[in-house]
Amino acid sequence: MIKKDYDAIVVGAGPAGSSVARRAAEQGIKVLIVEKKREIGHPIQCGELVPTVEEFPNILPRAKRGEKLFNIPEWVISNRCSRVAIIGPKKKVHEFKFGSNIVDRSRFDKWLVMNATKAGAELWTCCEAMSAEKNGKEVLVRKEGKNFRLKTDVLIAADGPSSRITRSIGLNPNNPEDLAITIEYLMGGVDTDPDLTEVYFGKEYAPGGYAWIIPKGEGMANVGLGIRTSFSERGVSLRDYLERFIKKHPIASKKFQKGVILSRTGGLVPVGGPIEKTYSENVIVVGDAAGQVMATNGGGIPTAVICGDIGGEAIAKKLRGENDLSFYENEWKKEAGKELYAGVKIRKIVDIALRSDKLADIIFEVLDSKIVEEVIRCRLSMPLNLLYKTVEGLKQSLKVFKK
Ligand SMILES: Cc1cc2nc3c(=O)[nH]c(=O)nc-3n(C[C@H](O)[C@H](O)[C@H](O)COP(=O)(O)OP(=O)(O)OC[C@H]3O[C@@H](n4cnc5c(N)ncnc54)[C@H](O)[C@@H]3O)c2cc1C
Repeated sequence: MIKKDYDAIVVGAGPAGSSVARRAAEQGIKVLIVEKKREIGHPIQCGELVPTVEEFPNILPRAKRGEKLFNIPEWVISNRCSRVAIIGPKKKVHEFKFGSNIVDRSRFDKWLVMNATKAGAELWTCCEAMSAEKNGKEVLVRKEGKNFRLKTDVLIAADGPSSRITRSIGLNPNNPEDLAITIEYLMGGVDTDPDLTEVYFGKEYAPGGYAWIIPKGEGMANVGLGIRTSFSERGVSLRDYLERFIKKHPIASKKFQKGVILSRTGGLVPVGGPIEKTYSENVIVVGDAAGQVMATNGGGIPTAVICGDIGGEAIAKKLRGENDLSFYENEWKKEAGKELYAGVKIRKIVDIALRSDKLADIIFEVLDSKIVEEVIRCRLSMPLNLLYKTVEGLKQSLKVFKK
C-alpha cells in the first residue's frame, strides 16, 4: 500500500534523528520520524555524559551552534561533574577539568524529540523501517503488524551504529571491526566522588578500550566498559571483564563494596571515524549511523545533535532548490570534521599502547596530563601528529618489507 507523502522521513528518534527533524520542521518542512522502539530513549544505552555549554568550545570549537543546542533543561540533568580522572594500568592518575552534565538519557531523548514535534514534525513509535528503495524516495516500514510504503523527497538514516538504511541505499556503513562493544551497569551504593568522572585503562579490564565510572549523584553511577574483540582474551566475555573490574580492580573495586546492580545495558560504539560518504542524491546519514563519534572518548551525543542540526538545514536548502545534499557533508566537516578525523588518528596511536600494559604504563608515567587531556579531547597537537606520521610511516615500511 502506498501511504502519505512527506518532504522528509527520518529513521530513528535518537539525538541525531530528532535534531534533523526539529531543524527541518522549524523551516516548514513536512517531516515524519519513524522509531522502532515503544518508548523514546528506553532502554538507556549510554554513560549519559554530555559536555556543559561552557565546555563546548573546548570540544568542538568550530561548532558554534553547540552552545545553543546544549542548553539542557534542569529536568533532564541528574548530576554535574567538573573533573575527569584518567587512570593507567598501574594506578598512575592524570586529572583535568572537564565540565559535564550527566543527563537522564531517557529524558534527554524525549526532550529532543518533543522539540521536533513542537516544531511540527510527526512521530510514529513502534514503527520499524525495513528498507529504502528508489534511491531513498520510498521507504518500507512495518507498524503494528502492517507494512506501509511511504514516499518522501529526502530520507534520513539516523538509525544508529548498525544502520540498515545506510546499507540499503548503497552507501558504505561503519566497518564492523571498528565497532567497540560495551556493557554498563547502573549501580547504587557506589562510594564515588559525585564531581569526578573516572576513566580506567588496562588490558586486564578493558582490552582495546576503557572502563568508566560516571557518577549520577546519591551514590548512583554508570559503571561500564568498552572493548574491541580483536584485543580481548579468548573465552572472556564482556560481562566477565566488567565483573573483574568491579570485584578486582585495585582502585575501582573499593568503591563497589556496598554496590548493587540496578540495571544492565550495553551497545555498540563506532570508533572508526566517519563513513566514506554521508549523503547521496536524496539521502543523508547522521550520528552513529555515519560514524560521527569522537573515537578516543566514545562520545557521540554532541556530534549527533550538531550534525543533525546541520542535516535539517541541508534538507530545507535542498527542498527550496538552493543546494544539493553535499551541503550537509561540507558543513559537518567544517564544524566537527577536524575533531572527528583527529580522534581516529589518535586512537590508532593509542591502540599500540593498548596492546601491552607495560608499554601503556611507561607512556602513562612519562606523559604530561596536558597531552592525556588532548588525547581524550581528540586534539591532534604537533607532537601527537608527528607520532601518528611516524607510526603510519613504519606501518607502510613494514608492508613494503613483507612484500
Ligand atoms: C554503553 C554506551 C555508553 C555511551 N556513553 C556515551 C556518553 O556518555 N556520552 C556520549 O556522548 N555518547 C555516549 N555513547 C554514544 C551515544 O549513545 C551515541 O553516539 C548516540 O546515541 C548517537 O545518537 P544517534 O541518534 O545517532 O543513534 P541512537 O541513539 O542509537 O538512535 C538511533 C535510533 O534509531 C532507532 N532505529 C534503529 N533502527 C531502526 C529502524 N530500522 N527503524 C526505526 N528505528 C530504528 C533506534 O531504536 C534508536 O532509537 C554511548 C554509547 C553506548 C553504547
